[in-house]
Amino acid sequence: MNAPAPAGLGDDFISRRIDAQRVQLLYDQAPLGIVANLMIAPVLTFLLWDEAPRSALLIWLALLETTLVIRLILVIIHQRRAAEAEKVERWVERYIWACAATGTCWGGCVFLLALTPSLVHQMFICLILGGVLMGGILTMTSVMTACVAYALPLVLPPALWLLLQDDLMRAVMGFTGVLYLLLALGTAHRYHRVLSQALRLALENLELARSYARVQEQTERANRHLAEQQAALQDSVEALREFYRSISAPRRHAGDQIQTLLAMGCQRFGAGTGILARIDGDRYEIVQMISSRHDLAQGESFSLVESCCQHTLRARQPVAFDRGSAWPARQPSRHLRLTVETYLGAAVQVGGQPFGTLNFSDARPRPSPFAAVDLELIQLMAQWVGAIIDQDRAAAAAQRQHALLAHASRLNTLGEMASGLAHEINQPITAIALYTETCLARLHAGQAQPKEVRETLEKIAAQSVRTNTIIQQIRHFARQSKPQYLTVRIKDLFEDIADFLRLEMRRNRLQFHQRINPNLPPVLADPLQFQQVVLNLIRNAADAMSASEEPRIITVFARHVGDTVEIGVKDTGPGVAPDILNQVLNPFFTTKPDGLGLGLSISQSIVEAHGGRLWATPNPGPGITFHFSLPVASRVTTPERLSGDLSLEAN
Ligand code: ADP
Repeated sequence: MNAPAPAGLGDDFISRRIDAQRVQLLYDQAPLGIVANLMIAPVLTFLLWDEAPRSALLIWLALLETTLVIRLILVIIHQRRAAEAEKVERWVERYIWACAATGTCWGGCVFLLALTPSLVHQMFICLILGGVLMGGILTMTSVMTACVAYALPLVLPPALWLLLQDDLMRAVMGFTGVLYLLLALGTAHRYHRVLSQALRLALENLELARSYARVQEQTERANRHLAEQQAALQDSVEALREFYRSISAPRRHAGDQIQTLLAMGCQRFGAGTGILARIDGDRYEIVQMISSRHDLAQGESFSLVESCCQHTLRARQPVAFDRGSAWPARQPSRHLRLTVETYLGAAVQVGGQPFGTLNFSDARPRPSPFAAVDLELIQLMAQWVGAIIDQDRAAAAAQRQHALLAHASRLNTLGEMASGLAHEINQPITAIALYTETCLARLHAGQAQPKEVRETLEKIAAQSVRTNTIIQQIRHFARQSKPQYLTVRIKDLFEDIADFLRLEMRRNRLQFHQRINPNLPPVLADPLQFQQVVLNLIRNAADAMSASEEPRIITVFARHVGDTVEIGVKDTGPGVAPDILNQVLNPFFTTKPDGLGLGLSISQSIVEAHGGRLWATPNPGPGITFHFSLPVASRVTTPERLSGDLSLEAN
């Protein structure tokens, strides 16, 4: 039974290949039989030379040898044109005809039998015929038609002739000849089948081996592709991780974060220089950079014309080249005064407007081109830089607004305290006037003692200092300035506004308790803003208690809690109803007829800008306590924004 053909190979295909192989075998084995025939025929002629007519012998020999030569020529031509596999049928057909011709010539021996009366010679002829029959069939088993075409004309005429002779011996010889013919053809047929099966198996094995090799190659290719994809994926993940690490580092300055990003980019892209450039008209300026080159500096500007920066801005996607020679415009080298062989850059947009470029370059060519993930990464980095600058600008604008609001709030506080302050200033001035009048009167009366005059003048001077101090405090409190974060002690900050506090207490007839631990760690704070928050809370407490029964007490305390210093302002007023407690920090929330509702929300944003928080808790007894926390100075970096320093702001 035939084995099934391997998947993908048609039975037809295999059959054609087997046919081709059989024909090839036919031609390969032919020379041996042909040469034997070429030699046997002359030997037979020689032996019958005196027994049969010589002319008949020679004609027979010539015909036979001609067919043999034709077969030999066919074999030679076939070998030379072995590649013409598609012409298999024609080749087999030719050879079958040639075999039939040779077989017929051998069958022509019937005439020699008839012409040779000697039984011995006739037996010899039959022996020769039997030999060439067997030899021929053996070389032709691969193509059964050739066997039949060769054997039938070779055996039948002599055998039939012998059978027709009136002689038992000859009849037996004829019968034996027919028997040999059937036997030879039967055996040839069996060999033919075995050979076909063997060829089929060999071919199928070969095809199996080939398809296995093909599958193996495909698998290897797929594995390689998979490995490449996996490597690319890992690379992307690593790039994103690096990117995330650099942008998520706990820094508060946009400039620091961009600097870290540039360092990460230089390392990732193998570049010696990383630049954030800002366009300004027809020039671009280096806003931030990392470079080992000493001839490039932050703040330096270059012409934009035909520069990498310009090409990057024009391109809608990241621009990359790993060999400078491949870059269409080499002018960038001229502008940067260096040979840029490697460049990777992307446009940075801020608020939808072109800002500049983020780029990485190197004077050396890259060993391999930038990968797709590199282009995606720089795009992501440029987008992030744009967003950071945008945020930075928004924060700067918000901070300016906040400063303006805080200033307005301070002026408002001063306005509300104006009558009290006027009284506070008025008192020493009245005292000065009184002392001066008394002193002058004594002088006019000539009763002035030098000691007495000196003491009066000292009192006048003291009152002047006092007036001046109050005026200075008012001026200081009213001034408009940028936040200045300093390492300060809470106690000192309270001392600076002691006059204001005293004034409030006196004006509102309040008791004031101050419980501040002198050993508290210093905090990082803007003194003016701190004082503003304290005054807001104290004045709110005073307002709340204005209608309360006495005792009206305000207690200020400060304590160390974890990494913060917590400051509290506690009153004995009516407190805040639970349903509005969570609203008091909202801007414009007020329960006062002339209130603005901004004091607490401004205080909250001031505290949060310091890295702290503001909250309120009802007291166990009457009143409420407002708390705010400030980080201990040693635990924080300066919360100043550096946008101005970094020149990230638009010009
Ligand atoms: P304003 O003082 O202009 O009303 P604030 O933001 O300072 O604005 O205060 C908002 C509101 O919070 C006040 O109107 C008041 O109802 C409430 N509040 C603030 N502090 C106290 C306090 N110590 N006791 C009771 N209520 C308070």
